[in-house]
Amino acid sequence: MGGPPGRGEILNKRRLSGRFGAIRLIPGGNGGTYPHCNSVWIEEAGVLIDPASDRGRLEELRRLGAVKAVWLSHGHEDHFADLDLFDDCPLWVSREEAPPLESLEGLLDAYGIGEPDHRAYWRRVFEERFHFRPRSPSRFFRDGEVIDLGSETVQVIVTPGHTPGHAAFLFRKTGALFLGDYDLTPFGPWYGDAGSSIEETLRSIERLRGIDAPELVSADGKKAKEFLEKKLGLAEGEGLSDRMVLVRTEKSDKYDRYLADLFYTDKNGREIYLNQEILAAGLAIRMGE
Ligand SMILES: [Zn+2]
Repeated sequence: MGGPPGRGEILNKRRLSGRFGAIRLIPGGNGGTYPHCNSVWIEEAGVLIDPASDRGRLEELRRLGAVKAVWLSHGHEDHFADLDLFDDCPLWVSREEAPPLESLEGLLDAYGIGEPDHRAYWRRVFEERFHFRPRSPSRFFRDGEVIDLGSETVQVIVTPGHTPGHAAFLFRKTGALFLGDYDLTPFGPWYGDAGSSIEETLRSIERLRGIDAPELVSADGKKAKEFLEKKLGLAEGEGLSDRMVLVRTEKSDKYDRYLADLFYTDKNGREIYLNQEILAAGLAIRMGE
């Protein structure tokens, strides 16, 4: 067997749009990164999570009167920037996230911004660019609580560290996990703010890692699964008994998933590099692309 090309360079293709069961992702500008995030919209229940994605689309929801409650994963400006559109909707958040939402001074304190000049600068930025308006939460999330929304059942997982009361949401029916700012980009999730904690961040990551939320809920995920089943003869029910599958793992990636090189033999005993086939079929992209 020759050396495999591009070892372990497969990453699942993530298309951040569309519908996942009863939930819908509203992709944010700038790829959902600062100064935006991605919002989650649970249409039937009228619950909007993290309104800072696409102001135009959120204004439309506002016009339709469709939003019954707004949930926040945490009180950072790139997650509440469009909250001002929903000033008459109940706001749900963890208790520890209330101070930065209740007052501008509380927000500056949470970031540990002390210098009067810096405070003045950020006060203006938060108000003008991120539409900060003081808000009092109407309900606090409790860790582990399960909220029945009819079309979805949501489990709240309080994951402090990024901020003192950051919350992630597990959508049990869909099997999707909304990580908030635990998306583990090279940028985060520890920011070093006044309320950040490395120890708690690590504990929260460990906890989120233990949750089984396969990426099969998306249309892309389903397509990729069908493709693999067909390639490996699983779809026809012939099983793998007459085939050979070789899995080589060398290291884990930044999400701590194993990177694997997969080889299998076809009906004629020919050895095929499955990673390359997945790439060629457009079902995955190389890391960094
Ligand atoms: Zn954040």
